[in-house]
Amino acid sequence: KPISNHMPTAELQALDAAHHMHPFTAGAELGAKGARVITQASGVTLTDSEGNRILDAMAGLWCVNIGYGREELAEAASRQMKQLPYYNTFFQTTHVPAIALAARLAELAPGDLNHVFFAGSGSEANDTNIRLVRHYWAAKGKPEKKVIISRWNAYHGSTMGGASLGGMKGMHAQGGLPIPDIAYIDQPHWYAEGGDMSPEEFGLERARQLEAKIAELGEDKVAAFIAEPVQGAGGVIIPPETYWPEIQRICDAHDILLIADEVICGFGRTGNWFGSQTMNIRPHIMTIAKGLSSGYAPIGGSLVCDEVAEVIAAGEFAHGYTYSGHPVCAAVALENLRIIEEEKIIEHVREVAAPYMAEKWAALADHPLVGEARIVGLMGSLALTPDKGARAKFASEAGTVGLHCRDRCFANNLIMRHVGDRMIIAPPLVIQPADIDILFERAVKSLDETF
Ligand code: PLP
Repeated sequence: KPISNHMPTAELQALDAAHHMHPFTAGAELGAKGARVITQASGVTLTDSEGNRILDAMAGLWCVNIGYGREELAEAASRQMKQLPYYNTFFQTTHVPAIALAARLAELAPGDLNHVFFAGSGSEANDTNIRLVRHYWAAKGKPEKKVIISRWNAYHGSTMGGASLGGMKGMHAQGGLPIPDIAYIDQPHWYAEGGDMSPEEFGLERARQLEAKIAELGEDKVAAFIAEPVQGAGGVIIPPETYWPEIQRICDAHDILLIADEVICGFGRTGNWFGSQTMNIRPHIMTIAKGLSSGYAPIGGSLVCDEVAEVIAAGEFAHGYTYSGHPVCAAVALENLRIIEEEKIIEHVREVAAPYMAEKWAALADHPLVGEARIVGLMGSLALTPDKGARAKFASEAGTVGLHCRDRCFANNLIMRHVGDRMIIAPPLVIQPADIDILFERAVKSLDETF
């Protein structure tokens, strides 16, 4: 019999456990509990196979910026699939969806980020970036300038390149990472690592680690620095105000390319089109994905400045993916960008949703379990603590309390994620004040029920 939404949940879960390997999931846990089967979604709300309505405060994986159920995107995909479902952009051919999306992105991007190299995901785009920056310096006669500096606890994807750029030690431990010529500095995570320093002092100290690392490696060996404007998967870590201006100064002073990984921050999440605008930085390259299509179709890319693109274009860049600039994904992304602009979704974030969420978030700081509540635009975090005053950690293994809180949220029909003992949100950008009230109510209930 066909497998469908009409099957009993237990049967679907059994088939899922038997055949489907889930990313970032402990198999044993899944086998015992079974995964929740999501059957449909609209706006900010998911429905599961038992009819529960769940508020998705993570926009899927930080990607469904315009919310679920927008038929215009389905229609754009259908139209494009009928007209030209696939053609490549290798070997002197192109097509209108790729041209139109590249031109639109060049318009939206700040500065002279006028060129796009398309990929199928954020990870692939970051792999492109590794090859792009190394090839750029080699083409300029500096093949030794190839080290890319990143940060511990950064997330830049799951491919060998992406996970090497990322600074997740748990990922490095599985599968022989990182690849050569990647170096790391510490993250600007004041709450966890700031000790007695003020956030401002700490921001400068962490930024200056970049200068120290460049000095250690030699300026002629360092190609680029990569960072998310606001770390997402690491736990929504909003850097102190002193951090980014100092990083920008150091990159400028030492002839280092700056890569802003905008996979989460891009397309409205922080209240501007790009997180780089919120943090006032001028990257040479931006990684984009997720909100580019609001997750309706898999597409990512690298937005590249004039100087880098010109050097790359002087020869052949021996790199590309079958799905670079996929016409259906590009058509979906264009429709998504049209909706963000015409429905003034970023203005909605800035003027309505983020200020209201910030009020609620500040109220959560009073909860006995919350040591810190931070939010920028519509990405926020709560640090759970046994002792509010002291920024203390729990005696239990890191993440146990966060996991429990996440499970309570799940049981209360709220999707929030935990990163260790931090709770994080990044809801669809179209979230309305009435949804935020529900989110807040369920979050408080879940926190109250946590141990
Ligand atoms: N970069 C950042 C900042 C991300 O958050 C992610 C995914 O969460 C990626 C890159 C990887 O993107 P993808 O999962 O589309 O490969």
